[in-house]
Amino acid sequence: MTTADTIPFNRPHVSRNELEYLAEAVRRGSTSGDGPFTARATRLLTEITKSRGALLTTSCTHALEMSALLLDLRPGDEVIMPSFTFVSTANAYVLRGAVPVFVDCRPDTLNIDERLVEGAITDRTRAVVVVHYAGVACDMETIGKLCERYGLALIEDNAHGLGGSYHSRPLGSFGGLVAQSFHSTKNVQCGEGGALLMNDPRLAARAEIIREKGTDRSRFFRGQVDKYRWVDVGSSYLPSDILAAMLTAQFESFDRIQSLRHAVWARYHEELAGWAEANEVRLPIVPDGCEHPAHLYYLLLPDLPNRQAFIAHLAEHGVQATFHYQALHSAPAGARHGRAAPGGCPVTEEVADRLVRLPLFADLDEDDVTRVIDAVRSFTVS
Ligand SMILES: *Cc1c(COP(=O)(O)O)cnc(C)c1O
Repeated sequence: MTTADTIPFNRPHVSRNELEYLAEAVRRGSTSGDGPFTARATRLLTEITKSRGALLTTSCTHALEMSALLLDLRPGDEVIMPSFTFVSTANAYVLRGAVPVFVDCRPDTLNIDERLVEGAITDRTRAVVVVHYAGVACDMETIGKLCERYGLALIEDNAHGLGGSYHSRPLGSFGGLVAQSFHSTKNVQCGEGGALLMNDPRLAARAEIIREKGTDRSRFFRGQVDKYRWVDVGSSYLPSDILAAMLTAQFESFDRIQSLRHAVWARYHEELAGWAEANEVRLPIVPDGCEHPAHLYYLLLPDLPNRQAFIAHLAEHGVQATFHYQALHSAPAGARHGRAAPGGCPVTEEVADRLVRLPLFADLDEDDVTRVIDAVRSFTVS
């Protein structure tokens, strides 16, 4: 049940310049891809992530699909990834005929459990995809070393991680390829959008071709070839400059967006601590060395009945809260196209039933944060 004054789970933030930049893009008439705003947004994104190269894409899903094409994955190749993630992480590789091998998550961060990755490697493994859940970094040191030792590609699905860091190094700077999302639920958004970051310079030239329908059109526009031709496989993964205009305004407001989100996150964390302890509810854990970007705030209730009752209780109090990922290894398509790593994914199955996300967005004002906190505290776990 939601009413007119229900606090929504998410409301996309609009900063100052979106409408002005959108009008500018439309007036200028450079509405297709790779226009002036695309260049501006790309530069700002590269500064935030310290990645070596970036291409805006139509979504994070498409950036992941590009990574599968760039790795030349063949049917039967295996890609190690967490079971606790969004469907796109797996779909992108399944579309190439690759087999996702789902690894369980750590009970503390809910990230892929680095201690289980080596046991999932076979002679068909080609890549490891990490997802920094809630923008809290995976153990990149351990996973990075494993990838090096076994010659595996390292990919970051960094949809949650923009602005986060691991031992002072930005998330999005670790993987040879990195997928970002600018979907309306993410910290920086243009409705639907994404980016492929490239930290492996050997992949950059081909990435540009794959994103431009398999043609060398980008080189043609830079005057590097005298005509453009079909040179490789590809698709249309480049977004309109109109969307890039919106993104440019968002990136210019990134610091403000982040400080507003952090203020909400910090109040939840502080003011729910006592209630959580009394009710055996687990709050987010952020290990030393991880700076998170306040992407989401979750609670782990003791079990499924309490989780469901809690969501209903919040709805009655005008607060829209939601659960999150369901395990991929046991989802119908996950079981058909992939498999769980040895030992299965018991932690994933458990947390998927217990997790609730609270409203968290830049424009959630102090009174509404108070309303959410009061609604949470008026629930007693049974
Ligand atoms: C949001 C999200 C995606 C998909 O992003 P789109 O831009 O909507 O394609 C992929 N992976 C994770 C972890 C996400 O949170």
